[in-house]
Amino acid sequence: MAPQTGSAPRTRRPRGEGQWALGYREPLNANERSKKDDPPLNVRARIENIYAHRGFDSIDPGDLRGRFRWYGLYTQRRPGIDGGRTATLEPEELEDRYFMLRVRIDGGALTTGQLALIGELSQTHARDTADITDRQNIQYHWVRIEDVPTIWEKLEAAGLSTVEACGDSPRVILGSPVAGIAADEVIDGTPAIEEIRRRYLGAPEFANLPRKFKTAVSGLPDVAHEIHDVAFVGVDHPEHGPGFDLWVGGGLSTNPMLGVRLGAWVALDEVADVWAGVVSVFRDYGYRRLRSRARLKFLVKDWGAEKFREVLEREYLGRPLRDGPAPEVPDHPVDHVGVHRQKDGLYYVGAAPVAGRTSGSMLIAAAKAAERAGSNRVRLTPQQKLLVLDVPASEIDGLRAELAEIGLDTAPSPWRRGVMACTGIEFCKLAIVETKDRARRLVSELEQRLADVQSELEHPVSVHLNGCPNSCARIQVADIGLKGQIVTDAEGKQVEGFQVHLGGGLGLDAGFGRKLRRHKVTAAELTDYVERVIRNYVAQRKDGERFAQ
Ligand code: SF4
Repeated sequence: MAPQTGSAPRTRRPRGEGQWALGYREPLNANERSKKDDPPLNVRARIENIYAHRGFDSIDPGDLRGRFRWYGLYTQRRPGIDGGRTATLEPEELEDRYFMLRVRIDGGALTTGQLALIGELSQTHARDTADITDRQNIQYHWVRIEDVPTIWEKLEAAGLSTVEACGDSPRVILGSPVAGIAADEVIDGTPAIEEIRRRYLGAPEFANLPRKFKTAVSGLPDVAHEIHDVAFVGVDHPEHGPGFDLWVGGGLSTNPMLGVRLGAWVALDEVADVWAGVVSVFRDYGYRRLRSRARLKFLVKDWGAEKFREVLEREYLGRPLRDGPAPEVPDHPVDHVGVHRQKDGLYYVGAAPVAGRTSGSMLIAAAKAAERAGSNRVRLTPQQKLLVLDVPASEIDGLRAELAEIGLDTAPSPWRRGVMACTGIEFCKLAIVETKDRARRLVSELEQRLADVQSELEHPVSVHLNGCPNSCARIQVADIGLKGQIVTDAEGKQVEGFQVHLGGGLGLDAGFGRKLRRHKVTAAELTDYVERVIRNYVAQRKDGERFAQ
């Protein structure tokens, strides 16, 4: 546009948000510049050919803190740095010379052989660390850059990958942990997950998105579909039969928004095309100017469902989508823990580690126990749990005993079922507080203190701990969400603590917990606080009233 001259009235040019489709192709911030200057997927060759041979000090900072993410690699936090200093230190002061490496496990589906391999790689290269995340991934820590090519080679030989496990790219696809075996699923989404992965994992056309992009495909409402950039949720169409209801624009973090329905029904064999259409809308119209506004949810909020669907149909699919009904939603989170009958007459057994904390040794032992019980399939869940599938009735008791022996409880207390935690200060550079060990202590203390009310709860109360405001553990949609921050204790000292969000939920109660200014607790008071809240809920609720009501 030519500059305004003379005395003509000045019309204000709308400020661009960096949308490619509107002509803003020049990078408007350092992240966009980095992606344009050198496509992030190119970094693999440098890792394999240079960095793994020359060591940590040879790594270009733009690769280290930017492009490495496209392969699931982040530097981990240097031990001993307290949360009060997280925001004040330079990246090089905060980071260790070791990496977190995230293995993406689309649909959470693994063979026992793959699970054992993940465990063995952990023992050899990651000091036996292997946490189950609430996005059905496994995260290693203590990985050296020298070992990364070997880890990749072994993972890839077994059909596993770390490609686009992080970065501004399509991340792991969440899927129902009981896909294909649940008697009550509307449809098995596995073929759609496999097709998206086959066509688009590592595809250059989607490797530079405005920010991360989260997908869920499930025949059951058991994958937190409301908080995904795009979600396909099983629904039975009165004319067309089983298919998926399409949702877009969900996401948590600092500006949480629930996804919206587009009112469209998608057949199983259309999911990959429609998914590519939604990702393309995001790539082309997503806001790239500010990282804080670059998630799809901001575009969906500005456009609304109707315009989003219209652009998707007209510009990307070239056809209208069929209208469809809304899926049924549950009144409580479904975690699949315990023993359940499959539709083929076999059983699946769901086990709970504490807040996703497992180890390589534990995963190897779980794989062996599953195989001894006649199974060769396991699944990880979005609630940080592990399921063994295809177990004959005669093998259930033996399997449960073996899993219990290694710390995978198949009849856990509601506190163990309901507590989730993100990585926290132990390894995460953004963390302000410790989470995993605190979750472990919280579970154990609640088990002792609340044994008398346990039987009065129909469903576990969800308690989610985050180490910072980023919401990796989905705090806004927990019954009790705990956001790590520095708080002032009774003596006026600055200590680790949490801002509390109360009464969030998904499904029937989908909404964000209330953040009450006075509801801040120090870490030392945490168990007392949670105990008090739960006792009050049990004492005051009316018949069948859920926590979020
Ligand atoms: Fe790290 Fe914060 Fe995410 Fe926890 S919520 S893993 S502390 S970024």
